Amino acid sequence: MPHAVADLRSLSRAGVDALVARLGEKPYRARQIFRWLHQKGAATLDEMSDLPAALRARIAAEIPLSALERAEERRSADGTIKWTWRTVDGKLIESVYMPETGRKTLCVSTQAGCAVGCTFCMTGTMGLSRNLTSGEIVDQVARANRRLLELGEGAPPRPLTNLVFMGMGEPLHNYDNVKAALEVLLSEDGPNFSNRHVTVSTAGIVPEMRRFGEETDVKLAVSLNATTDEVRNALMPLNRRWPLRDLLAACREFPMKKGRRITFEYVLLGGVNDSDEDAVRLSRLVKGIPAKVNLIPYNENPGLGFRAPEPGRVEAFRDRLVAANVTAVVRRNRGRDIAAACGQLAAEGGPGDPRRRGADRTQTLTGRGSAG
Ligand code: SAH
Ligand code: SF4
Repeated sequence: MPHAVADLRSLSRAGVDALVARLGEKPYRARQIFRWLHQKGAATLDEMSDLPAALRARIAAEIPLSALERAEERRSADGTIKWTWRTVDGKLIESVYMPETGRKTLCVSTQAGCAVGCTFCMTGTMGLSRNLTSGEIVDQVARANRRLLELGEGAPPRPLTNLVFMGMGEPLHNYDNVKAALEVLLSEDGPNFSNRHVTVSTAGIVPEMRRFGEETDVKLAVSLNATTDEVRNALMPLNRRWPLRDLLAACREFPMKKGRRITFEYVLLGGVNDSDEDAVRLSRLVKGIPAKVNLIPYNENPGLGFRAPEPGRVEAFRDRLVAANVTAVVRRNRGRDIAAACGQLAAEGGPGDPRRRGADRTQTLTGRGSAG
């Protein structure tokens, strides 16, 4: 995936150490710079007021520093905020802030668009524009923290407590940058998130799942969404390559930390995957896996041809699972009024709007709801 030059914000801690060494500066400068970037969310080198101006100039000559620009902010009556950010090359990506009692979660994007092409998902209809750099992934968190402090939402050093990688894109299709971003987000001189408070969601890229479990220690969520290969093939084209059997084997073999569970996401689509039989099959599929099922009532996207479950169906489905001893929760729809709920289309004229098909699909993401 082509992407311009490296950016200071995309460097690992070791990368910043190396830069500082190359410039012949004292090692403590690296920590200062890293903290400015990832704890304080400095947008420019000039903000790094305790670095000598000469050093700032020498860094600027070595490597660019960019920040996401806030293109849009939409606030929901339930406290949810959706931000659309513009990257240096003009891509529009989104993050969604969801406050709850005891935690403040940010849902982040990992790609502009997505190549997986799930038929019910607005991001899936756009195709992939490009991978986000690790700098762009971590900067969503820095920008959000800064903005939340400005809005009086929470206290320094960072209002956000939890992160979910459930925005636009398939994290395991952007493996290296997601891994690099996680290292920054969990590092002590960075935002210092706890691994227990960070969840990465995958549509089921089986070969990368094991590697992910071995190389990171954050939580895993898997978008299951169907209980037969026939239905899953129709919803998620990647199921032809990695069918349920292989996916569930990868979940069984996932190198899990003690006491952890895999979260299975299950979007309930009216008349497609929400029958009692589906619930029974689902309970059999996850049997033996330390698991929790997140039921997500479908957020309708005009033009995609799917509908939300009938009233009462969601609860009936959950009750079936619970009766079969499966932990299941219904994920409350957040920010519906601002189209920030999972995969929801925001405004008319967004990329998924059938009236605009064929129009530029990569530049105008404003108006598309976050997939998370
Ligand atoms: N690509 C990753 C992470 C982003 S999608 C993945 O698929 O897991 C995050 C979640 O949103 C997925 O579980 C997906 O099934 C769900 N989703 C997408 N569109 C939705 C919609 N319109 N309504 C409800 N959930 C949706
Ligand atoms: Fe991509 Fe996830 Fe949407 Fe599928 S559900 S198209 S994997 S973002």
